Amino acid sequence: MLLRLPTSVTEAQECLAEGAVPIGGATLVWAAWQRDGFPGLAVSLRELPEANAVGRETLGGAVVLHRIDARVPDVLRLAAATVGTGAVRRTATVGGNIVGSTLRCLLPAALVLDARARILESDGVHETDLSEVVAKRPVLLSLHWRTPMASAYRKLPGEAGGEPPLVVASALHAGEGEPDRLRVAVRDGYDVLTGTTLRGADAGPGAETGAEQALDALRDTALGELPRAAWDVVRTQVTGLLAGRAAH
Ligand SMILES: Cc1cc2nc3c(=O)[nH]c(=O)nc-3n(C[C@H](O)[C@H](O)[C@H](O)COP(=O)(O)OP(=O)(O)OC[C@H]3O[C@@H](n4cnc5c(N)ncnc54)[C@H](O)[C@@H]3O)c2cc1C
Repeated sequence: MLLRLPTSVTEAQECLAEGAVPIGGATLVWAAWQRDGFPGLAVSLRELPEANAVGRETLGGAVVLHRIDARVPDVLRLAAATVGTGAVRRTATVGGNIVGSTLRCLLPAALVLDARARILESDGVHETDLSEVVAKRPVLLSLHWRTPMASAYRKLPGEAGGEPPLVVASALHAGEGEPDRLRVAVRDGYDVLTGTTLRGADAGPGAETGAEQALDALRDTALGELPRAAWDVVRTQVTGLLAGRAAH
């Protein structure tokens, strides 16, 4: 197998045009390739500056999970910190997790940030949303978002070999003249459900944080299908987030 390490987007594009298979840390593909045979040509984005950026509002697709720190919003940092073991996090990448894995612990965090993705295709770089990334599995160059006012993430403990553990992520976005916007994403099994509501401007006396009103509104979104136990985790997190308490 020939591994190409492009240092520019143009070079990376050429690799794709030649049919190179994207590779991150190989934590998922290695075993399959050993079993089924290695591809002739692979491309890693680890030498490409855009795919390696970690910042307040950007995260590269080739960034290794253990490099994700307090520069990014809490929800993303906490999500990365809960993936697998330390050894996995030292090797696995953002692109491998969001595009290439089935668990995708980073996906709920990216969804509540309303992140946009920059993807590389053989005809150039395009910007798209996460639903298209999940559906079409393009090469992920980087994620971009606007810094939220606050965010939170919780992953329940899982059992080895069992169902994926429940993940609840949320972020509160400044409304800039409009009411603030609350986004919540829940991974229940392998499904990821999302709900968005405005933080009630007219929550009324005794409801300063607007949490009850926001939770009622979220019940009318896809999150309304959640089982009771999952909903209780959502309730606790949203209440804490809107009260200004970090919940994780
Ligand atoms: C022991 C163990 C525990 C784990 N626990 C968790 C967990 O708790 N939560 C969780 O979410 N995941 C978990 N995982 C899965 C983990 O997220 C993936 O192994 C990892 O994210 C894959 O990243 P990678 O860079 O190694 O991908 P690779 O193995 O290199 O690639 C995997 C797939 O992604 C594609 N790919 C890689 N980079 C890109 C890119 N930039 N754009 C598009 N496609 C790309 C590859 O072509 C391939 O199809 C676990 C894995 C292991 C081995």
